[in-house]
Amino acid sequence: MNFLLRQGKLREQFAPGGMDALLVSHLPNIRYLCGFTGSAGLLLVAEAGSVFFTDVRYDVQAREEVKGAKVLIARSGLVGALGEWVAARRKKSGTKSGPWTLGIEAEHLTVAERKRLADGLPSGLRLKNTTALVERARMVKDDGELALIRAAVELGASLFDRALEVMRPGVLETDVAAEMEYAARLAGAEGMSFATIIASGARSALPHGRATEQAIAPGGFVVCDFGVILGGYCSDQTRTVWVGRALGPNGNEARGAYDAVRDAQESAIASVRAGVSAGEVDAAARKVLQKAGLGRYFTHSTGHGVGLEIHEAPRIAAGQKEVLQPGMVITIEPGVYLPGKWGVRIEDMVAVREGGCEVLTPSGKDFLTI
Ligand code: ZN
Ligand code: ZN
Repeated sequence: MNFLLRQGKLREQFAPGGMDALLVSHLPNIRYLCGFTGSAGLLLVAEAGSVFFTDVRYDVQAREEVKGAKVLIARSGLVGALGEWVAARRKKSGTKSGPWTLGIEAEHLTVAERKRLADGLPSGLRLKNTTALVERARMVKDDGELALIRAAVELGASLFDRALEVMRPGVLETDVAAEMEYAARLAGAEGMSFATIIASGARSALPHGRATEQAIAPGGFVVCDFGVILGGYCSDQTRTVWVGRALGPNGNEARGAYDAVRDAQESAIASVRAGVSAGEVDAAARKVLQKAGLGRYFTHSTGHGVGLEIHEAPRIAAGQKEVLQPGMVITIEPGVYLPGKWGVRIEDMVAVREGGCEVLTPSGKDFLTI
């Protein structure tokens, strides 16, 4: 990972943004910019160089992991160490340096943290709110990131095969999730991207129905939404299967909805290429479901970016003007949910290319009964 290049691109935004330095406090952004994977730290990206502040628990780890920034171990709080460092720097450069403006990540600081920062920094220093400076850079993945994402997606997809082995009527949703998560760890995953969703029966109509101790029953869908973290990068995939050989009274309607969701998902994937807006991709999925009379049951957005975080920019939602660029990695996941009855969702991850996209998720999408 070329951390100096990433930091350099960030610095280019300091002058237009009217700031002298940026204090990066969001851990995934810190990881992106200097490689630190721990749970406590602050990265100051200044014109002259970068400094990473962490506490003594991370002394060894930070020195091993952090690239492109000087590591400073704070003995009495990160903000205190930051304040001392900034004060010393300002003293060195004298009064000719003028007022100093420090950008902060407004979306990632609590009100209390902002106050602590304002209190701990030398007087004459201004704090300036910034939004998504690093997140915008993170939207476009480089080749190294794409390789890590591919590996995560492959491992993630193998969990669906495991789910199909264990899923059958009478098995608890939590048992299926547990088997998948155990297989993930055995295969080397650092963890799950999020709590595994195994939503059966009427619970399949809950778009985020985490696995419960409900037994899987015949005559309904099971929505399986799951992902792993591997090499720091997340995967995200959804497949929906039908339980029981006979489709039952709701069957034809359910089968029709499954086919419509799959068509919507494939239509949205076909619309993905560099230069189209995120809103256009969302519209491609929505149009198919509206035609099938299911538009009002498609209650969420079509997708989201995936990378170091499971949900990151860009949002693939109605009216989003963000223009897709080569190297963005997004999900395409339309679904329909009939409250009290059933729900269907199908989700793949794709990488945006110049003339189209590469579907990363290898699993099939045929209507499956278990
Ligand atoms: Zn998902
Ligand atoms: Zn998703």
